[in-house]
Order: sequence, then structure tokens, then C-alpha cells
Amino acid sequence: MRCVYCGHGETQVVETRETDEAVRRRRRCQKCERRFTTYERAEITLPTVVKKDGARVEFDRAKLRASMSLALRKRPVSTEQVEAALERIQERLLQDAQREVSTARLGELVMRELQALDKVAYVRFASVYRSFEDVDEFRQIIKDI
Ligand SMILES: [Zn+2]
Repeated sequence: MRCVYCGHGETQVVETRETDEAVRRRRRCQKCERRFTTYERAEITLPTVVKKDGARVEFDRAKLRASMSLALRKRPVSTEQVEAALERIQERLLQDAQREVSTARLGELVMRELQALDKVAYVRFASVYRSFEDVDEFRQIIKDI
């Protein structure tokens, strides 16, 4: 790995840490001795999300998380549990290996996870599921319940 400051070809890894999504490496340039951090991630290709009107949007884990969090509002479910559920959904999508996924299918996957996590959240999500298209819409509906 080339030094990001001086371009020198030799850098030394001084620290390696595994996080959930990446391997974080602290490096030190052997010439200028400055330090920088790199992140190593596996390249994964998630399907494009197809909305009911045919519009295509990029898969967005943050959006999915926001939807689940809304359904789980004030429910005794930890952030770790939500992240684990998101991980399972993502893995499922990768296993399916389809280039596109409908919002309906995404909704099904979310419902399956919520059913196992928390019944109230499941009912919240399932009751508005048919009209679930984006987070803002869902947020509005949840507010009304
Ligand atoms: Zn350097």
C-alpha cells in the first residue's frame, strides 16, 4: 500500500482490527512516518429495488434500518438485534442472486424478521405493508397509529 502523503511504496501495518463490515488497518509510512487508516471490504452486489410504479432505486440498508426502527419504536429490541436482522435480510438477497428485488419481496423479508423479533412491531409493519413504498410514507402511517 502506497503512502497517501508522500507516495512512498512501503507502508507498515501497525494495527489491524476486525469490525463487522470491514477490516481496519492502521498503517505507517516507512519514509515520512505519517500514519493513515485503510478499510478493507468484500465487494458485494445487492439487487436493485423495484418499486410498485416500476421506478428503480439502489438498495439502501439505512432506509431498511429506518423502516424497521420505526416499526420497533419504543419496543424492547436492541440495536444489535436489528443489525443482525438486517444482516440476515442482506444475506438472503445475496443468496437469491437476483439483479432486482421488488419492494413487496423486501417487505416480506422484513416482516419475517419482525415476526421473530417483536409481535407488536410485526403487526405495525404488516398492517401498513401493502402501502409501504418508502420510509417517509411509512413514518407518516406509523405516526397515525
Ligand atoms: Zn510517506
